[in-house]
Amino acid sequence: MKQLKINVNRVKKHFEELAKINSGRKGYTRCAYSKEEKEAKHWLVDQMNRLDIPVKLDSVQNVISRMGPAKGPAIAFGSHLDTVIEGGLYDGALGVIAGLEMMEILKEQNIQLPVPIELICFTGEEANPLGGTFGSRAMAGLIDYTPEYEKKLNDLGFNWEDILQAKREKSDFLSFLELHIEQGQVLEAHEQSIGIVTSIAGMIRFQVRVIGKASHSGTTPMNMRNDALLKSAGLIQAVHDIAKEYGETIVATVGEFSIFPNMANVVPGEATLLIEVRGSKREQMKEVEEKINEWIHRNLEDTEITPIVEKVPNVMSKSIQDEIEHACIDLGMSYQHMLSGANHDTNSMTHLTETGMIFVPSENGISHHPDEFTSWKEIEDGINVMLQTVYRLSNQYASLPLNQ
Ligand SMILES: [Zn+2]
Repeated sequence: MKQLKINVNRVKKHFEELAKINSGRKGYTRCAYSKEEKEAKHWLVDQMNRLDIPVKLDSVQNVISRMGPAKGPAIAFGSHLDTVIEGGLYDGALGVIAGLEMMEILKEQNIQLPVPIELICFTGEEANPLGGTFGSRAMAGLIDYTPEYEKKLNDLGFNWEDILQAKREKSDFLSFLELHIEQGQVLEAHEQSIGIVTSIAGMIRFQVRVIGKASHSGTTPMNMRNDALLKSAGLIQAVHDIAKEYGETIVATVGEFSIFPNMANVVPGEATLLIEVRGSKREQMKEVEEKINEWIHRNLEDTEITPIVEKVPNVMSKSIQDEIEHACIDLGMSYQHMLSGANHDTNSMTHLTETGMIFVPSENGISHHPDEFTSWKEIEDGINVMLQTVYRLSNQYASLPLNQ
């Protein structure tokens, strides 16, 4: 199959331009709905105008740019340009700049794909008052109305009508792809260039309140204490040990913790832990949750357990995974299949169409931090695999009777 190659110097230049749109002292700061995020999206609009490729902003400010036939379902791809506070250069930006470069190289080489392609830059992907992956959830019709939510929308310059208008149809898409940095260390550890994502992890969060008895730290002998913090320490260790038994398919974390009264001279009377379990298989996640609950009931007499949230894992399309694998083989790139532990806009898009995700290595697994790093060679390889995948998919879709 034909091999197209992108221009990595141009990609580098685009990263440099985007890096200037930043309000942080360290790293890169373009928070959701901020002046900087808007400016970054306008930078993208300017790029599309320069290339004379149609571009528009939808009602929630997602940037949508389309190449090829004006009508009919498209192969879409994209990511986001917002960042966390003092985040890295590559998270989100890579997927958007990759899409821009893919369109630019096709245009430059005068290649007309047989189906339309669309670059989408989603609004507000990182954690924000309207919830993370805001733009893609609006597009997939996944946002529920409540008066409180409408108030939050209004505070940020949107209204409920905008949410309704942003929704798109399944018939608008053939597939959706996202190129992203791994934000972990799996590819680096295994010395692989490309990660083919099999699914985006599901998540279970529940809160455990461990109750002890607050008492004076100076006057309560060691054998007369009921120390809630000490009891929680055992639970934290148990959460770690239980998840570890499952190898690489499950992770569990106590990431939020508070004690009461949290004073130097008081034996802690109460501790509240937030336990999070993520994994690719719902049954396995439920099993881990169950084992943690059993441990609690065996070892801690006085506790309250409150479920917080459960999100099912979303599986990436098998046929798109195969096309990404073929693209890697075409280009002689090393690859492995892997789970995405982090959430992405692709997660929302699974509700609209077949999806696929391509990961490139993150040095030392660092992300959401100024030290986030992926080499230009790794970026070049990633975008080339992405372009080759889109090229392969477009030919495949064109040969289906449906699209003739
Ligand atoms: Zn991201």
